[in-house]
Amino acid sequence: MFEPDIEMMKLSEIRALQTERFVKMVKYAYDNVPMYMEKFAEAGITPDDIKSLDDVHKVPFTVKDDLRKHYPYGIRAVPLDRIVRLHASSGTTGKPTVVTYTEKDMETWNNLMARCYSSAGVGSDDIVQNCYGYGLFTGGLGFHYGAEILGATVIPISTGNTKKQLMMLKDMQSTVIACTPSYALYLAEAAEKEGYNPKEDFNLKVGMFGAEPWSEEARKRIEESLGIKAYDVFGMSELYGPGVAVECKEQNGLHIWSDEFLVETIDPDTGEVLPEGERGELVFTMLTREAMPLLRYRTKDLAIINYEECACGRAHPRIMRIRGRSDDMLIVGGVNVFPSQIEHVLMNIKGVGDQYLIIVDRDILDSLQVQVEVAPEFFNSPDYDQTGFAKKLEMEMQAVLTVRARVEVLEPGTLPRSEGKAQRVLDKRTI
Ligand code: AMP
Ligand code: ZN
Repeated sequence: MFEPDIEMMKLSEIRALQTERFVKMVKYAYDNVPMYMEKFAEAGITPDDIKSLDDVHKVPFTVKDDLRKHYPYGIRAVPLDRIVRLHASSGTTGKPTVVTYTEKDMETWNNLMARCYSSAGVGSDDIVQNCYGYGLFTGGLGFHYGAEILGATVIPISTGNTKKQLMMLKDMQSTVIACTPSYALYLAEAAEKEGYNPKEDFNLKVGMFGAEPWSEEARKRIEESLGIKAYDVFGMSELYGPGVAVECKEQNGLHIWSDEFLVETIDPDTGEVLPEGERGELVFTMLTREAMPLLRYRTKDLAIINYEECACGRAHPRIMRIRGRSDDMLIVGGVNVFPSQIEHVLMNIKGVGDQYLIIVDRDILDSLQVQVEVAPEFFNSPDYDQTGFAKKLEMEMQAVLTVRARVEVLEPGTLPRSEGKAQRVLDKRTI
């Protein structure tokens, strides 16, 4: 463990620390960020009304639009000369949202990332090939510095250039790969095409995967093809970047580093706080952020939080696998469809490749279409029958999801591969 004193805190100790930090943070945000003073005035409260975690529901939410409104320098509590780093996430429309960091924020973030690596068993002996994008995206530098302060060797190769990635995996004998899970699937496929045998030619033991939702089945495929253990890392640029939560060796949920983040689960429609154990939208309060405090930030990510102590000994609450985002959920003809559920069904079926694309063109259920690549070995086997296989996938999907989707099976290598976050949905209704 990187910071055992914090990682092994009991839940009661975590709660006490959170209470102290939360009350202080509310006052700090109110005193230093005009937006919070306005939000508090609108809600008819002052920091004096916030005395413990029980008062959290009185605090107004912060949403992504608040960040956009405060473009370019975001929601800032310190003068510019104290800002040492800036990142931005490129939203699909309009201006990006900008996030800023003080020197202490950088130290906090890097430590959180170091905890994440060590939780997956990564240490100073390791060679980390970091294929997250370096630049305004937080993935590259987040995964970089976390490994560096652990004393590991970092290869800052960034995204793309898959042939070179494979060459480096072999020549440098990298032991850890950090990238999106969709890129890991692609790398495994490309390795085979280029004539590598990942289990013999590479020396990989751990993958640090995040930045997008992925299924248990995708995990199995990555683990089997690359011969590694695949760990899930969660984060977002508004909350420093990656490193908010990570799996431990138990791989039964992602521990949220709760000395730094207070998490709640709310009903995304009403905003009401849900009882423990119910699936809802995750809402985070950053407990020590200096440059850009965020109180009750609505993430749109949907998940269940587990507050039971984990077998690893950590009591930091766990996010059970992220189901997707409320804004990714497809509503087709009035029925809710999560791309992650479709992935779950598909990847459990033998013969299905790693790539798929969900296409919606009209707002009626019948318009749901899924393009699925066939696994190369199945495609080339005498058992493969295109029409029969498509029918089989349609039936399996209808049985599990109760929605009917037209399935088109494609030759291996037809769909576009991603180097960062994969695009799994093409919603033509919104184009
Ligand atoms: P960004 O701010 O670009 O880093 O994107 C953050 C978003 O990526 C989150 O709000 C999630 O929707 C998604 N995300 C990040 N990590 C994971 C993960 N491990 N599992 C599922 N979704 C993730
Ligand atoms: Zn654990």
